[in-house]
Amino acid sequence: MRYLILSDIHANWEALEAVLREAGGEYDAILCLGDLVGYGADPNRVVQWARAHLAAVVRGNHDKAAVGLASLEWFNEAARQAAEWTASLLTPENHAYLRNLPRGPLEMEDFQLVHGHPADEDEYLFEMVPRDIRPWLRCRTIFFGHTHYQGGFELSYAAARAIRAVPSGETRLVLELDPRHHYLINPGSVGQPRDGDPRAAYAIYDVDAGCVELRRCTYPVEVAQAKILRAGLPRVLAERLAVGY
Ligand code: ZN
Repeated sequence: MRYLILSDIHANWEALEAVLREAGGEYDAILCLGDLVGYGADPNRVVQWARAHLAAVVRGNHDKAAVGLASLEWFNEAARQAAEWTASLLTPENHAYLRNLPRGPLEMEDFQLVHGHPADEDEYLFEMVPRDIRPWLRCRTIFFGHTHYQGGFELSYAAARAIRAVPSGETRLVLELDPRHHYLINPGSVGQPRDGDPRAAYAIYDVDAGCVELRRCTYPVEVAQAKILRAGLPRVLAERLAVGY
């Protein structure tokens, strides 16, 4: 079984379309780690697609914010404006879909899907303290998103090692999973990368081969930017797409 693993699409249709085109034919099912909407200009199109194509998905904080399940008080001004704009635009069907997304962790065959942290869907997993994460390791591999940083952590018995993003200038990084270790893997953000690389990020998990491939893919950033500006969303949301921050 091969899974295409997406996270933090954030209503960026151009980035999603480029990822689907590039990965076409290389996976059996698509999984998503939350934040379908927020920031980007195509919430209905992305949710419509999600409803038809995702085999499993957990909710993200922006999905909750767009349907009134989370307070906007922790959002910065641009995020709040985008959440309110998204909420005003969602069709009743798409609103209902977002409202009913499950909270992570979601158990798959031998791995889990979470948005932020296995203990708290809204917590950012930027650092790894093995003793803090161990009680939450219910399976060998956990896929998480939320930080918009591709990479993650590999835990051996005593230590944690950082997994880096695909280097700039390359498009793929293969991780052969060691069956003795635990992994927390972030495929990166499809629609609003913040790790300094503006290319759309995603991963393919080949369960039988025991390997995860992290990938980066270019997309027409200027088209997504023009839509954000045309929608009257804050300019910073368009500008940051070009720098990946
Ligand atoms: Zn996000």
